[in-house]
Amino acid sequence: MPLPITRLRVAVPVPLPRLFDYLNTPENQPSQALGCRVRVPFGPRELTGIVVATDPAGSAADSTLKPISRWLDPDPVLAGELLDSLHWLSRYTHAPPGEVISAALPSALRQDQPLPDTRAWGWQLTPAGQAGVASLRAGGRPRRLAELLAPRATSEEALDQQLEDWRSAARDLGKRGLAERVALAAAPIPVAAAGPVPNAEQAAAVAAIQAATGFQPFLLDGVTGSGKTEVYLQAISACLAAGRQALVLVPEIGLTPQTLARFRQRLGVPVHTLHSGMADGARARSWLAAARGQARVILGTRSAVFTPLPEAGLIIVDEEHDASYKQQDGFRYHARDFALVRAKALDVPVVLGSATPALETLNNAAAGRYVHLRLRKRAAAAAPPRVRIMDMRKRRLHDGLSEEALQGIASHVAAGGQVLVFKNRRGYAPALLCHDCGWTAPCQRCDSPLTVHAGGRRLQCHHCGARQAAPLACPQCAGLALQPQGIGTERLEERLQSHFPEVPVVRIDRGTTSRRDALEQALAELGQQPGILIGTQILAKGHDLPQLTLVVVVGIDEGLFSADFRASEKLAQQLIQVAGRAGRAQRPGEVWLQTHHPAHPLLQTLVNGGYHAFAASEMEQRQAAGFPPFAHLALLRAEAQQQEQANDFLTAVRALLPAGTAVECYGPMPAPMPRRAGYQRSQLLLSSTQRAPLHRLLDSLVPGIHALPAARRVRWSLDVDPIDL
Ligand code: ADP
Ligand code: ZN
Ligand code: ZN
Repeated sequence: MPLPITRLRVAVPVPLPRLFDYLNTPENQPSQALGCRVRVPFGPRELTGIVVATDPAGSAADSTLKPISRWLDPDPVLAGELLDSLHWLSRYTHAPPGEVISAALPSALRQDQPLPDTRAWGWQLTPAGQAGVASLRAGGRPRRLAELLAPRATSEEALDQQLEDWRSAARDLGKRGLAERVALAAAPIPVAAAGPVPNAEQAAAVAAIQAATGFQPFLLDGVTGSGKTEVYLQAISACLAAGRQALVLVPEIGLTPQTLARFRQRLGVPVHTLHSGMADGARARSWLAAARGQARVILGTRSAVFTPLPEAGLIIVDEEHDASYKQQDGFRYHARDFALVRAKALDVPVVLGSATPALETLNNAAAGRYVHLRLRKRAAAAAPPRVRIMDMRKRRLHDGLSEEALQGIASHVAAGGQVLVFKNRRGYAPALLCHDCGWTAPCQRCDSPLTVHAGGRRLQCHHCGARQAAPLACPQCAGLALQPQGIGTERLEERLQSHFPEVPVVRIDRGTTSRRDALEQALAELGQQPGILIGTQILAKGHDLPQLTLVVVVGIDEGLFSADFRASEKLAQQLIQVAGRAGRAQRPGEVWLQTHHPAHPLLQTLVNGGYHAFAASEMEQRQAAGFPPFAHLALLRAEAQQQEQANDFLTAVRALLPAGTAVECYGPMPAPMPRRAGYQRSQLLLSSTQRAPLHRLLDSLVPGIHALPAARRVRWSLDVDPIDL
């Protein structure tokens, strides 16, 4: 007979770097206390926390502890591996443990609500219903439903597909005692569609993944269209056949209905999704279905890395280089990196797939930490796209497009193809400039010009969201020579519509597709007919556009000369990804890169040698400069109303550094955008060639930072392994 639990250590979702102890309230205490949700008093509020230890050593005297308000559930929501991995993540990122653990829970479970039902529900006929089918009016909806249900119980999901408005008919049958709603033992399994026969490289990759017993990272390094998704699907099928669960992470813009449909058709089991576009309740149900072992395949974006996997067999991270895997505010974690930690703890293989692997990942593969699998050829397309660098110097430009580009677009469209004009800049123009005096419309709250929208009538800040009408006259010289400066997608749209009035021109960026399905709808409307797409990176992945034969990339030059040490890598990845959209089916594709710097080494290496040649030369430069992956970084950011407050804080932190540390410290220095949304921003960079000394330093430093009086006058955050500096 175990002793009754008297004290509980609880992770409470507050921004403090510690856990909190409470007295137990044994009423409704579940048999397994660890990982259960409890309501606890916290100051004047009541919060939902997670029990992370029982009767811990070294807690305060009982007389000073408050009792929990109550237990919420009969079973734990976070247990075993996931709870342990989250503890690790909290230590690694130095984020408050309560915030880390609460970030792992779907938001509906952070509230004071009972756990939702995750069983699959269906309908079946009662014995009276079986006997009475023939007595129902022929042709009526209740009769049609009864006929559907006569052979077997049918899931609500399946009924949705088979009979319109079946719910009212079901209610009707239910009221007459002819049918009833039942929880189905297992979700029905549609028949899996067969995929293409894998080619030799795909087969070798699948075999290698299947042969892994226990933890093993793989880099699946395959050119765009080489059939990486096919490899995932076959590896997942094998994992399912072995009775295990599979987790697949995709970038935010990669989780399209097209992708989901492909997984559903091919796997023959329900595929549960987790992404930010879902309602809270639906997310909680997917998450819990995974925790209960009901969900076998989970397809999700960044935060899906927190899915419980009691029967894990495989983790896949598609487009592993994608920046959307890094959470950029609040609790900063990297989903790809955490996926590796979880795979290790779960002792399962993990596959990182990309056509343009991150330099960190290539470095890990080169060091032998990952098995490097290559897919060198496109699987279905005739040939890789032909890439041309277009010299724009001294050319006449029509809103950013050369004469030659316009002719190329015309001839591809005339041949029945589709053209993508890629410009990673939404809005009409990046700035509004006075041609008389040089004034540029600034954001009042950010160190950034306002972007011109609505053909020049509206100004908007892409950093803080501020909006205003465009001035009619220059506020500095009162002149009337205000002009939109530079090119955005709206301006390209205007130009291409007037140049090609007879052809559909579809602009796709975050301005036109705020709703998730708007993009699908726009693409569906265009269909297979000849036309022109104008898009930002939202179009650079996830969509198969079989008619696309020409990609024109407009304005890449800003990326060639950025101060950010990752800018070259990002640009190279973006160019390869967008180029990979062209010629994915049988029609050969072409990619034209417009630039004023045709001899730039990045472009030359990329076009002549491909991504790996680029990566090799970039890797040398990183090594010479002492940047990641040859250094490990942590960035301390601070923002305040006054610059001095932020700097005073960071200077005080710097003074806490022990003498003789091997970790280098740079700053305080202004952030890349020193003022944003009205705040002055500074930062302090810590860098170390080895990971361990950096983390030892942070372990001793962070409690001291929390204790600094100057910390109360700023908003600060620590970013371990930052991806933008
Ligand atoms: P990736 O994920 O690398 O971009 P996909 O898996 O989407 O590539 O494959 C690209 C296209 O090639 C898809 O239309 C896919 O159906 C097709 N494909 C993949 N593997 C094969 C194969 N072995 N034989 C024929 N077609 C294939
Ligand atoms: Zn002026
Ligand atoms: Zn702003």
